Amino acid sequence: MESADVTIIGAGVIGLAIAAEIAGPGMNIFILEKNPTHGSGISSRNSEVIHGGMYYPEGSLKAALCVSGRHRLYEIAAKNNIPHRKIGKLIVATKPEETEEVERLRENAQKNGVDSTELLSTRNIAQMEPNISARTALYSPETGIISAHDLMNYFLMKAHRNKAELIYCTKVMRIEKEARSYRIFTRNTNGDTFDFSTSCVINAAGLESDTIANMVGGNYQLHYCKGDYCSISGVKQSMVKRLIYPVPVKNHVGLGVHLTIDLSGRLKLGPDTTYIPRSEDYNVTAQKAPLFYESAQKFLPFLQKENVSPDMAGIRPKLQGPHDSFQDFVIREDLPGFINLVGIESPGLTASPAIAQLVNKMLTGKQSH
Ligand SMILES: Cc1cc2nc3c(=O)[nH]c(=O)nc-3n(C[C@H](O)[C@H](O)[C@H](O)COP(=O)(O)OP(=O)(O)OC[C@H]3O[C@@H](n4cnc5c(N)ncnc54)[C@H](O)[C@@H]3O)c2cc1C
Repeated sequence: MESADVTIIGAGVIGLAIAAEIAGPGMNIFILEKNPTHGSGISSRNSEVIHGGMYYPEGSLKAALCVSGRHRLYEIAAKNNIPHRKIGKLIVATKPEETEEVERLRENAQKNGVDSTELLSTRNIAQMEPNISARTALYSPETGIISAHDLMNYFLMKAHRNKAELIYCTKVMRIEKEARSYRIFTRNTNGDTFDFSTSCVINAAGLESDTIANMVGGNYQLHYCKGDYCSISGVKQSMVKRLIYPVPVKNHVGLGVHLTIDLSGRLKLGPDTTYIPRSEDYNVTAQKAPLFYESAQKFLPFLQKENVSPDMAGIRPKLQGPHDSFQDFVIREDLPGFINLVGIESPGLTASPAIAQLVNKMLTGKQSH
């Protein structure tokens, strides 16, 4: 019977970044993924933005790991030819009462160690982005975009090179704690079952990370919070050069329906925030297009209704319920050698290399607990 030193559950950007970080000579690492491809969960349904780190409360893991992850991500991307661009972003105030919030965000950015932001006047904005409408704005030159799939492929290649093994179509069904290890029970898509023993477990199961943690006595509950996107067509790509965000939704639920630009220059609006029952429903209804048009038209006055149409959606794995306040990432060794990563919503993609370094530190010395 095979056994592993470390078993990573989930081959999204988090599981793969961790595998790339910890794999090395003499380590027997399994990555288990229920789907036939890697990165087909949350990691392929997001805005692909490298966040600056302005929003999150000072001292939170989200703030610290976003800032350090961003630096690391740019280094990794530049060194390994991963498509990315540091295009910058504006957070815009369209009403007088929003100016204060923009100023507050600047202070928060500074507390988080993001020193490069700049407050812009209406005139500055008109020079940088002549086609948008805003009274004031916070400019973040460090924000960028990246190909999430190329990033994941890079992490996987690095992990493979160090002999980590990714096993597809294999779902973790149950986990039992043994004296000094864990027994993982799996089922593949043919219905075959297989179990093995592992010294350490890293739970990076995204939308199912609470289920996995609760298999060994955890008490987590994720709320699914859907984010729909609409595509923009019939607008010249050159109309806007940077990512344009409104002031964020109160309570850290989301960043507000914003304008994103992908690496091919296509413009998109989204994501909004809707708590949904627990199911992976990615349907975007036609009604979303006029709603998105209305909220974005305030800062993108060139938009016409017919430019906006329903596109893709993603689901956030939120520890924060609809009436709760801010909740941080949970990255915790709840049992000896069992590390749970729960609630890894945005900025998880940006933070992924820093999360991987943190987990590596937590694991050091744990292989024979
Ligand atoms: C709408 C939206 C927009 C976002 N925008 C950004 C952004 O612009 N910038 C940013 O930094 N972050 C963003 N994020 C956050 C980022 O996408 C996530 O933090 C990140 O992708 C989470 O990766 P993950 O590996 O934890 O999850 P996933 O990619 O979902 O990976 C988890 C994997 O675990 C597998 N799995 C689950 N259960 C089991 C099981 N029992 N057995 C085996 N495998 C299992 C799943 O199939 C899945 O492949 C956004 C998120 C959303 C939803």
